[in-house]
Amino acid sequence: MSDILRERAQFTILRERIGKGQKPLVYLDNAATTQKPLCVEEAAQRYYEQANANIHRGAHYLSRLATEQHEAARQTVADFLHAESAREIIFTSGTTMGINLVSQTLALSGLVGQGDEILVTTDAHHSNIVPWQMLCERTGARLRPIPLTAELSFDFASYEQMLTPRTRLVAVPYISNALGALNPVADIIAAAKRNNPQTLVLVDGAQSTAHLPVNVQELGCDFYAFSGHKIYAPTGTGALWGRAELLEQLPPWLGGGEMISEVSFEKTTYNTLPFKYEAGTPNIGGNILLAEALRYVQRVGLEAIDTHEMALTRRLYDGLAALDGVQILGGRENRGSLISIHVPGVHHYDLGTLLDQMGIAVRTGHHCCQPFMASLGITGTTRYSIALYNNEDDIDRALRATERALNMLR
Ligand code: PMP
Repeated sequence: MSDILRERAQFTILRERIGKGQKPLVYLDNAATTQKPLCVEEAAQRYYEQANANIHRGAHYLSRLATEQHEAARQTVADFLHAESAREIIFTSGTTMGINLVSQTLALSGLVGQGDEILVTTDAHHSNIVPWQMLCERTGARLRPIPLTAELSFDFASYEQMLTPRTRLVAVPYISNALGALNPVADIIAAAKRNNPQTLVLVDGAQSTAHLPVNVQELGCDFYAFSGHKIYAPTGTGALWGRAELLEQLPPWLGGGEMISEVSFEKTTYNTLPFKYEAGTPNIGGNILLAEALRYVQRVGLEAIDTHEMALTRRLYDGLAALDGVQILGGRENRGSLISIHVPGVHHYDLGTLLDQMGIAVRTGHHCCQPFMASLGITGTTRYSIALYNNEDDIDRALRATERALNMLR
């Protein structure tokens, strides 16, 4: 057995039997959220039994201990993303909050103005569309979708034509969540910076961080946001990385707590990075568990994870492609470990419901990508998404169940 297959034992929930039929669970909804390994569960118990206290300014032992662990967790996130410094890591509740932090601070900054343009991909998640629409409403900037090619990949030629002196920001998913496309983010960033070194680029790392090694310095982007719960950590955790000079320049968004330096009724001054952006008591336990999950991923190894997941993805792709009437969104290569299908004449919800009855957990619907669905003229897809603990048996069961379900539905 390859080393990675042994990791399945870390995830107790995968031994659950599901529903009335007590079917073995095949969990293929990892793009929505991943399961948590034992080491994260144990770290939660350790933290709450031995270290829990509010951090910063605490005179007592537990407060110092929790502060140390919390700030060590920040360093772990910085190392994981290859950030220059832990000052550049802002803990958030997830990708959505990270992107909103950037859009809200930009709105306050005066750096985005009337006639500026913000480019996003057509297949972006609502969390990477709506915050920019809100920024546009407040500043008079314009949001422009970058089209996809006929093969549903990033349309680089159109993108290059859309880059103008007015382009203020480009926001792209590294891996899109409804389509699964692995976008050429390094080239996208380089083209934006060639066009205008002042153009900001935000990478939505919600779907990439658990699958690919990320080096924010090599990528050359300005912001990178991800969610802890999609990388084996608890919900309500995540981080935003931003280039220090930008984070220094932008104003804080939320007020109160550790984000202040001095407060008076006449004038309040703000704390240094990263605390300037962390108002209120942070998710202390959660952030410490996020670091535990990242260490877990590092122990398993992102390259081993990628190799394993992509082999399973190709097995799933080939199996689905062989089923009658199944249309797979996007090509076999250049994708993350998720596959969305559309079956003309079969509602995705019906397929998902039958799969559930067979013990297969997939996601159906628009996946928070309504503009993308509208561009395809469909209301939703059935999405299978793979994590490090899935194995060939999961894929084969999902394929057999899909075939059976489709036979029942047609
Ligand atoms: N962007 C992408 C590409 C996603 O897949 C998701 C989650 N489905 C988000 C953003 C939002 O993440 P969260 O809900 O964890 O904030």
